[in-house]
Amino acid sequence: MNGAQIPLLTKLLINGELVAGEGEEEPILNPATGEILTRVADASIEQVESAILAAQSAFATWSRTTPQQRSNLLLAIADAVQEQSEHLARLEFLNCGKPLHLARQDDLNATVDVLRFFAGAVRCQTGQLAGEYLPGYTSMVRRDPIGVVASIAPWNYPIMMAAWKIAPALAAGNTLVFKPSEHTPLSILALAPTLAQLLPPGVINIVCGGGEGVGSHLVSHPKVRMASLTGDIVTGQKILQAASKTLKRTHLELGGKAPVIVCNDADLDAVIQGIRSYGYYNAGQDCTAACRVYAQAGIHDHLVAELGAAVDSLRFARPRDSDNEFGPLISTRQRDRVASFVERALGQPHIERITGAAVHAGAGFYYQPTLLAGCRQQDEIVQREVFGPVVTVTRFDELEQAVDWANDSEYGLASSVWTQNLDKAMQVAARLQYGCTWINSHFILASEMPHGGLKRSGYGKDLSSDSLQDYSVVRHIMARHGSQL
Ligand code: NAD
Repeated sequence: MNGAQIPLLTKLLINGELVAGEGEEEPILNPATGEILTRVADASIEQVESAILAAQSAFATWSRTTPQQRSNLLLAIADAVQEQSEHLARLEFLNCGKPLHLARQDDLNATVDVLRFFAGAVRCQTGQLAGEYLPGYTSMVRRDPIGVVASIAPWNYPIMMAAWKIAPALAAGNTLVFKPSEHTPLSILALAPTLAQLLPPGVINIVCGGGEGVGSHLVSHPKVRMASLTGDIVTGQKILQAASKTLKRTHLELGGKAPVIVCNDADLDAVIQGIRSYGYYNAGQDCTAACRVYAQAGIHDHLVAELGAAVDSLRFARPRDSDNEFGPLISTRQRDRVASFVERALGQPHIERITGAAVHAGAGFYYQPTLLAGCRQQDEIVQREVFGPVVTVTRFDELEQAVDWANDSEYGLASSVWTQNLDKAMQVAARLQYGCTWINSHFILASEMPHGGLKRSGYGKDLSSDSLQDYSVVRHIMARHGSQL
């Protein structure tokens, strides 16, 4: 299958109209083959401006719709995504190189679920009681929308990230200008005609382009009241700087380097299966990837040997796509970045290559699933996010040490602890400074539960009703009473 066999839509959505971009044309690649699928023209700065103004103008009406009205529209979008899910999954397959069966089963199902979750959640919000907190005055608290939100997405899960950003922002009554990653615009552009049909003009606008041009114009625009990013820490810092000029709200979901603490009493089969799956899923291009293993001395050698064999058995770049368990990196740049991290790591005498550690020969931007042992806490490969199929193992003796090392990171998104002693697991979980800690698991998300980080992983919460709070503002209404009854 190639791009020519399914239609690839390239028009932007501005004020309810599907329009060709008037900026530079960017080639959109299939990372599994390196071929150019199509070209998408960026939005010109004038088009970005029109999108923001359209969103601002739509806000006056959209912000006054009822939760029920917004919920019904989100449900209609969810139904449309479900109807088009085979097509959208194929676009993720083409534009990200994801195995098609995984795009279907994981990305598209999660996208539909998130839209449906927010359609329900916005109708069930709770809050502080209204009452007389001063004699003669009744106070009540409202949650109101913020205004125009600029939402900026990464390339690792294009349609799912779009849903994570669009659903809570719209549910809360905001209007949006959404920018997909310049690498992966095809799935959201395919959905643009449906969004244009279902939503009033201007409620959602989709503009394509790079970060420095279209992205930075969006986040520095005075009419944009909130900037939401899922992306790199450096991008988050740039967005914060731009946002400070107009005191915008920001919602930042940045990188991760998840520690995986494996105790002597863990169920090793489950650990090996877990790391094999969740360290390499999506070629490790996941901010929660189980990539930084701390293995207790009693099981360390056995774990490394067994995990090495398990990682060797991972299937990728096979001609029959249904055999594959993960796809390529998104670009040659990303693959080269991963390769250079591994090269520098292996330049250290104490780090041992267990398996992988090479670019995969042949077409596409694949990198071999890699396991490195003997890594030390201060090594770059332990400290920095690789965002590729690379897992490190570090030996520890005392659990106290592992918890300290796990927390000794600038990242704070996700973590896990593996032990059959629940007391121990709960104590470790309480001490880990991460937005999420899994016990005897990793990676699994539920739409009802918050997802987001601490420290430099950012502070925005995606999923859950916490996200609705992030996309709305608390207001106090206070009524002075007339004369006593
Ligand atoms: P990136 O930061 O390079 O790009 C993300 C988006 O930001 C893109 O749309 C890009 O065009 C835009 N952008 C870049 N510079 C900008 C600027 N100056 N102003 C406005 N927009 C700008 O990240 P990426 O390479 O697409 O994604 C990988 C990163 O995202 C990794 O670090 C990963 O950990 C992180 N990530 C985090 C989460 C999470 O939930 N915390 C989820 C997925 C990815």
